[in-house]
Amino acid sequence: MSAIFCEASRRGDEAAFLPYLFRMASPEIEALTQALARLPGLGPRSARRAVLHLLKKREAALAPLQRALEAVSDKLATCSTCGNVDTSDPCGVCADPRRDARMLCVVEEVADLWALDRTRLFPGRFHVLGGRLAALEGVRPEDLTIDALVGRIEQGGIDEVVLAMNATLEGQTTAHYIAERIERFPVRVTQLAHGLPVGGELDYLDEGTLAQALRARRPVG
Ligand SMILES: [Zn+2]
Repeated sequence: MSAIFCEASRRGDEAAFLPYLFRMASPEIEALTQALARLPGLGPRSARRAVLHLLKKREAALAPLQRALEAVSDKLATCSTCGNVDTSDPCGVCADPRRDARMLCVVEEVADLWALDRTRLFPGRFHVLGGRLAALEGVRPEDLTIDALVGRIEQGGIDEVVLAMNATLEGQTTAHYIAERIERFPVRVTQLAHGLPVGGELDYLDEGTLAQALRARRPVG
């Protein structure tokens, strides 16, 4: 029991028993905690632990985090070719000459691009649609970067298009729609195969499952 609590109970001072009148952290620290708590995968408890860690390890953790955030924030760009988010336009993937320009992997979101790239099994480039077709939510083909995708394929130099949509109804509807749109081009159209659980979203899969799905990709029928 704290000294102030004992003192207050002796005096019978009711106000001292109201802990909510006192603020644990300064407004700045509270703002940082709330900002972190809004990040995916972090809740209030994890955010408080992270903040405490940052405050304790000012030189080792807080300063490098601050520098990294500023560097990314200053240069943040969306790749005008593929839709990836990076610190340059064209992005690192599009600008890398070692990438096989003949292979193009189409994904719904940037997170899917990053997930597939983590497998290090796909040597080609990517195209981010910015979502998937969803009639009920009013997401139409023109809301996605499908025209830009068709334009990239139309330019030539691409042999294979991998449709790496999520294994959801909407993902597969999107894949079929794109397959029809690019039917007229002389490209091999494949999609991810075994290992993808029905309803599964790429970003949540472990790299082994994703690697297997990529290896066993099959022609779109
Ligand atoms: Zn790019």
